[in-house]
Formats: sequence, structure tokens, C-alpha cells
Amino acid sequence: MFTYYRIRRYALYLLISLFLIVIPFIQIDGNQIFLLSFDHRQLHLFGIVFNVQELYLMPFLLMMLFIGIFFMTTLGGRVWCGWSCPQTIFRVIYRDLIETKILGLRKKISNKQKKPDYHIKINIVKKIIGVLLFSCIALCAAGVFLFYFIPPKEFFLYLQNPMEHKVLLGFWLCIAIFLIFDITFMAENFCIYMCPYARVQSVLYDNNTIMAIYDNNRGGAVYSKEGNLLLAPKKQDSNNECINCHQCVKVCPTHIDIRKGMQLECINCLECVDACGDVMKKFQKPSLIQWSSPNAVQTKSKVKYLRGATIGYVIVLCIVMGIMIFMGSKKESILVNIDRNTQLYEIRKNGAIDNFYIFLFENTDNKPHTYKFEILNHPGLEILKPKEAIKVDAGGKIKQVVILRKKQGDMQKSKDSQTTIPLQIKIYDLDDPKIFILRKTIFVTP
Ligand code: SF4
Ligand code: SF4
Repeated sequence: MFTYYRIRRYALYLLISLFLIVIPFIQIDGNQIFLLSFDHRQLHLFGIVFNVQELYLMPFLLMMLFIGIFFMTTLGGRVWCGWSCPQTIFRVIYRDLIETKILGLRKKISNKQKKPDYHIKINIVKKIIGVLLFSCIALCAAGVFLFYFIPPKEFFLYLQNPMEHKVLLGFWLCIAIFLIFDITFMAENFCIYMCPYARVQSVLYDNNTIMAIYDNNRGGAVYSKEGNLLLAPKKQDSNNECINCHQCVKVCPTHIDIRKGMQLECINCLECVDACGDVMKKFQKPSLIQWSSPNAVQTKSKVKYLRGATIGYVIVLCIVMGIMIFMGSKKESILVNIDRNTQLYEIRKNGAIDNFYIFLFENTDNKPHTYKFEILNHPGLEILKPKEAIKVDAGGKIKQVVILRKKQGDMQKSKDSQTTIPLQIKIYDLDDPKIFILRKTIFVTP
């Protein structure tokens, strides 16, 4: 039995919504699956924390996002728009659920062309109630969106002192207000006139891309190649199957006639496929509008999913993902930045030479660590300060003044003229020797 695309879409909307709500609450080792925290300057990815110095993964994430979009569009056209885009999901909730089913402001889901009559006062009241109902959803959705930037625990903590977190409050309200305006007033005009994806998607299409497509061979051409309306097809005087009932036009949220061919406005919601399927059912025929590719409809064959472009995108995606995983696995749980003092050196009375440094230790792990360091290539250099190991809390940073001393006659100069001696320093964890990092600096002598 055929399941309406509408039912399948609604099921997917539910799954996506639940998924997006639940994800910020799932933690691995106390870290989120995805979090981009501007506050803590951290990126959480599958429970691994990357600090701002380690955001080398961001370009890979962006590359994957763009290649993924190209791949998805080449394969399935605007499948994102109809099946996953929050704009479409919220429009279905507002227009079909709140306005049509709950408030009866619109008569039928199957006729989206008929606008409510606002000359009738009760309709204005219903519109206001509808906007208020959706405002509650918009506030929750804006909150969930912020969970991907502020962990839910902190978000609710901040809300207890709203006056101390006016920026957060401002962001939350602005996102919610934008959502309310967009969904209740701009509606599909956002998809048609403002969404940048709508502008670029058509260049990614080829003749094997799947989309909502009217079968001209069965239904008969309704529009000329130039887009002019031809004489309406009549079932009785030709083999044309389209009975020109306009059900596919009435149901379309972007108010287009798909019989004209692929159009920028089509968001791939497949409402027209279902509508024509209902009409054609009475004649024991399949829908004249199908979710298929131009080639498949023309040649009455199966959609060709595996082709040069789609395979190419998958290969590039796998390569980028592989590099990202490799680089992510090389993540260091300790970061050290070494700054030399502006004073080059100091000569002591006993002839020893001291150099001064500031070491910035950063523990990027989620447990405390105790660090020590040693000079690998010049063990004769004395570490005058610090004598103790340095303890850094989970996610913490500590600045430490370091003084290195060269005792008189202790260290051989490799060249007589050498006054700058390169040093290689190993900083390691006292409890876990696998955690270490190598850094370079110099020791200056007169
Ligand atoms: S033509 Fe309209 S109803 Fe059909 S898929 Fe496109 S947007 Fe949806
Ligand atoms: S719903 Fe089907 S039969 Fe009716 S106008 Fe559209 S394509 Fe033709």
C-alpha cells in the first residue's frame, strides 16, 4: 500500500525535532556531542573538547558541510528543503496544524492557495491566537538552538539571573522574534526570495537529480517550452491523462504549477505528488507527478543514483572526513606557549647566565594533570625555577615564570661565535608519560 509522502515527511520531522532537542543533553565524559562555546572558547565534537588554539578542525567541518550540501542537492535536489529544513517544519506546524487543524482559520490542508478572510473579525482573533501559540514554540526552539552554543545546564543557570545575562536574553528573544515574523508573516516568501540555498541549488541539478516532476508523456503538455499556458488538456479528446483539476496547484505551499517544469520556488515537499495520486487513484492510475528524475521519467527507467558526480562527492567527503578524524586523533591534551622575557639574559656574580621565560600551560583534558619539563638537547642547563611540578585543573590555564641557568663553564658552545642556543623542551605529565609535548625556544648568552 502506498504511504503518502506527507505521512513520511511528518514522521521524519518528528524524528529530526526529537534528535535536535535531545542531542545537547547527551554527554560523553561530561562533554557535549556538539557544542560551539564562545564563552569557553571551545568546540565539543563527539565528547572531545577542542580549544580555540585547536580549531584547525573547523575548516574541515565547513568543507564537509558544503560538500555534503553539494552531494545532497546533486542527488536529491531540494530534498533538504522539503524534508528537513526547520523553515518547512515550522510552516507545517503553524499553517497546517495551528491555523488549519486547531483554529480552523484555513479550511483545508489540501488548499493552501485560499487565504483566510480577514474581513471576518473572528479570523483576526484566530490569527492572533495562532501567532501567540506559535510564539511559545518559537521561544522553545530558540532556546534549543542556543543549547548548541551554551550548554543547557549553564543556560538555565544564567536564566536564574537574567539581569546579569542580558546579552544571552537579547539573543534568545531576537532569534524567537525572527522566527515568529518569518513563520507567521513571511511564510514561503523566505524560501522564494531570501534563502541563499534556493539561488544556488539549480546549478547543481543534472538530468538524474530527483525532484517533483510532472510526466508530460502521460499527462500531456500543459505549458509550452517558453512557459506559456497551452490549451488545457482534455482527457476525452486525447490520450492526455491530466484532467486539469488543479489539485496539485492548490496544495502547493509556494503557489506554483509543477506542470510547468522545474522551478526555483519548488521546495520538494511532494504535496503535489500526493494530491495527484489521490486524483489518479480514482482512475486506477499512478500519480502524474512523481518523485523521480527527468531522465527516469523520459526513459521510463529507474533513477540513476550512482553516477560520476555523486560518486565523486562521496569520495571527497570520505577523504575530508578521514583527514579530520586523523587530525582529531592527534589532539594534544596539553598546550604550552613559551614567551621569552624582553631581557635577553642576566649575568650573575658567580659568572652564571640566567634566561627568563613565561610558560603558559593549558590543560585541554577533562581531568587535572601535573606537569614537569626537561631540556632535551642541553641537559647541563639548570632549571632554576620552578622546582616543583605544575598542577593544572581540567580545562585550566596557568602562567609560570621559568628561569634557566647556565653555570660558568658548564655548557660547551658548539661554535665559538654562538650566542643563541636552540633548546628543545619536553613537557610531560607526571602520572601519564604518554601525555607529553615538545616545544622549541632559545637560550641567549653574551
Ligand atoms: S511543486 Fe509545490 S507542492 Fe509540488 S513539491 Fe514543489 S513546492 Fe511542493
Ligand atoms: S492533480 Fe494531477 S490531474 Fe489534477 S491537474 Fe494536477 S497533474 Fe493534472
